Amino acid sequence: MNIAIHPQATVDADRLVALRADLGDVPLITDEAQLRQKSRDFFWFSPILKEELDHCRADLVALPRDRNDLVRIARACARHRIPLTVRGGGTGNYGQAMPLEGGVVVDMGALGATRWVRPGVGRFEAGARMLDIDRTLRGDRQELRFHPSTRAHATIGGFLAGGAGGVGSCTWGQLADRGAVIAVEVLTVEEEPRFIELRGRDALKVMHAYGVNGIITEVEMPLAPWHPWAERICAFDTLEEVARFAHALTAAEGIAKKLVSVHDGRISPLLKRIRPFVPDGKAMVILMVSEPQAPTVEDMAAEFGGETVFARGNEEVEAATFDGQGKLPPLYEYTWNHTTLYALKAKPGTTYLQVRYPAGREIEIVTHLAGVFGEEVLFHLEFQRRFGRVFVSSLPLVQYTTRERLEEIVRMIEAAGAELSNPHTYRLSDAGWKKVDAPQASFKREADPHGLMNPGKLLS
Ligand SMILES: Cc1cc2nc3c(=O)[nH]c(=O)nc-3n(C[C@H](O)[C@H](O)[C@H](O)COP(=O)(O)OP(=O)(O)OC[C@H]3O[C@@H](n4cnc5c(N)ncnc54)[C@H](O)[C@@H]3O)c2cc1C
Repeated sequence: MNIAIHPQATVDADRLVALRADLGDVPLITDEAQLRQKSRDFFWFSPILKEELDHCRADLVALPRDRNDLVRIARACARHRIPLTVRGGGTGNYGQAMPLEGGVVVDMGALGATRWVRPGVGRFEAGARMLDIDRTLRGDRQELRFHPSTRAHATIGGFLAGGAGGVGSCTWGQLADRGAVIAVEVLTVEEEPRFIELRGRDALKVMHAYGVNGIITEVEMPLAPWHPWAERICAFDTLEEVARFAHALTAAEGIAKKLVSVHDGRISPLLKRIRPFVPDGKAMVILMVSEPQAPTVEDMAAEFGGETVFARGNEEVEAATFDGQGKLPPLYEYTWNHTTLYALKAKPGTTYLQVRYPAGREIEIVTHLAGVFGEEVLFHLEFQRRFGRVFVSSLPLVQYTTRERLEEIVRMIEAAGAELSNPHTYRLSDAGWKKVDAPQASFKREADPHGLMNPGKLLS
């Protein structure tokens, strides 16, 4: 976890003046406060990144209204050799969208149209927010297969370029898995920008590449059939009991489900609005299951020693999700990295790690580690279905003291047999398991020949 500080190399004034002349009437932000705000993401989840990246600021934010504006921006940046960093919803948490060397941040927010939808597939502009995509698809009784817990703000292009999986992964796996993305369209950053269509496995060239090798302009995604999702919280005496139930539920193909998220008994007190429902000290699982099958799931939880302590039907879940109504936000907003967000509010000094467990040993390792670390590391587990089996990953909450202690905790988790990806680095190549099996570097030479896109995020 050694991170060198990148001094901000702000672009010189002459080049910026020339750039602005080329941009013509493309809307721009130049106001200091907004420049700073549009140059940040959730990097501050990491005390290490907070120290390293707090200074980052773009020289300009461009707000393309359509594809023509985007081409104009790409051409002007190439011509004047100005760094360009693409921004979706700005919800990344490794500083992915932060301009290390200033230049132009391109906010994709206005490019959010649905191109077309057919049974099982839809094509969307990259700036579309995932909640809005699903809002559009509701009429068709379809939905995105999975989305991050930041569905309300994250864009589909940002998810492909910076995300992994999320709500729905308990059935459909992750973005890197075969079949998760059908195609992407990319715009190159050259004097004569080109649109390139990458279909099938070729799409991996730009996935989880932090926007260093082309501007994703459109994505074509497989869709899942919509279910009337209902929410449940079930409480259990121990982390081990709840994990065994979650494992069995994720393996039960006959039950349609969208979320299986397990939390250590010490986590619910940190989630202010969940807390009243969960008896003190009890571990819990947050679930989204198809409403007609919710009674089956409750029975199953009882067989494993659990008790249903919260239930919300589909109508209320939809109202909370799409209209912001009801006492609680959608429960998925307490899972994945949203757990870190709430924990940070309740307990400043909290940070997190990213861990995955070898098949068959997940529960043994997690219960062992929970005992070893006590209050210092609190476990919550996200159950997924990948590679034809149950797959368990987690974003444990860590009470941060020093960088050295964090590194020690990492070593102890590795020694117990789990694998980590480092969320305290903004460099792709330092992150660990998230390397993509595709020629991303050679595609960069094609899509970004001047090396202007999101500089500093690749080691070489
Ligand atoms: C509270 C919280 C919860 C989270 N939960 C999850 C989760 O459940 N699962 C998960 O995978 N992640 C999660 N994340 C991380 C993040 O929300 C997701 O990765 C999200 O999909 C990022 O989308 P965005 O539009 O906000 O992208 P941004 O943060 O704007 O960008 C992410 C990266 O993609 C690049 N990029 C953005 N748009 C484009 C484009 N059109 N073309 C090329 N590059 C582009 C940016 O330059 C940047 O490098 C969470 C983060 C937070 C803060």
